[in-house]
Amino acid sequence: MKIVRYESNGRPIIAQIGGNRILPLSDIDDLPALIARWETDATLSSVQSCGPGFELAGASLLAPVVATRNVFCVGWNYLKHFDESTSKRAGQGVELPQHPTFFTKLPTTVAPPHAAVPLHETHTAQLDWEVELAVIIGKRGRDIPEADALDYVFGYTIANDITARDLQRAHGGQWFKGKSLDSTCPLGPVIVTADEIADPQNLELSFHLNGQSMQQGHTRNQIFTVARIIAELSVGLTLLPGDVILTGTPEGIGAARVPPVFLKDGDIMECNISGIGLLRNVVRAGLEVSPLLGTIPANT
Ligand code: MG
Repeated sequence: MKIVRYESNGRPIIAQIGGNRILPLSDIDDLPALIARWETDATLSSVQSCGPGFELAGASLLAPVVATRNVFCVGWNYLKHFDESTSKRAGQGVELPQHPTFFTKLPTTVAPPHAAVPLHETHTAQLDWEVELAVIIGKRGRDIPEADALDYVFGYTIANDITARDLQRAHGGQWFKGKSLDSTCPLGPVIVTADEIADPQNLELSFHLNGQSMQQGHTRNQIFTVARIIAELSVGLTLLPGDVILTGTPEGIGAARVPPVFLKDGDIMECNISGIGLLRNVVRAGLEVSPLLGTIPANT
């Protein structure tokens, strides 16, 4: 099932995609209820749509999930991305990690799939992109064995882990500040349920900036698989339904280019993952508001 959320009369509505139409679900009020249903009906065969729905094209979608706590992220999960970043880690001698490198983005970073993303031009001069496969957790678990880890995945979506590189490096080498500016984690447009992704390590992902290819990757090149990430993240830490985990970005970020390329007003960012779809956001100067904090800006 491909799942989207949209707003109607000020309320979020959850729907599935059927062909080129959005089909609202009957008796499911939002994603947490759908995930609860999934726990007893893994194929969601008992879920029905109501009515003929409406055209997907042009629909104004919400982020497919509301983050109730920080978005979990993995850094350095593709070897070529680790290598391309080596020269950017001045003063930080870092060996290739033996375990996943975790950090988080605040819930207020989450942005809708078609929203304009703020350039944050008064805060950073180095806003950068990162296409990533995102995992939506479906059931509560702690100390999850790697062999069972994919059973905890409700579905997958696309994320753009937008990062202010100058803020990332200005605060002691941590990754939180530079990655938690408002509306810097567009998600979507759909969640594809796990039963429709036979192998999360067999997905192509790409990023285009204004139509030009910048990142071309494949999840088979992840250093730590989705299952390993879930197993290690859940060590002594309870994962909850609806948790979002970003699984790292392949090589081709703007900061590692010669000369570097950073986002500017009007840039069109397109994140693609095979089997999931296209996450497309425009960068806009003069926008300062997170969708969770106020009005959702238009994507034009
Ligand atoms: Mg990232």
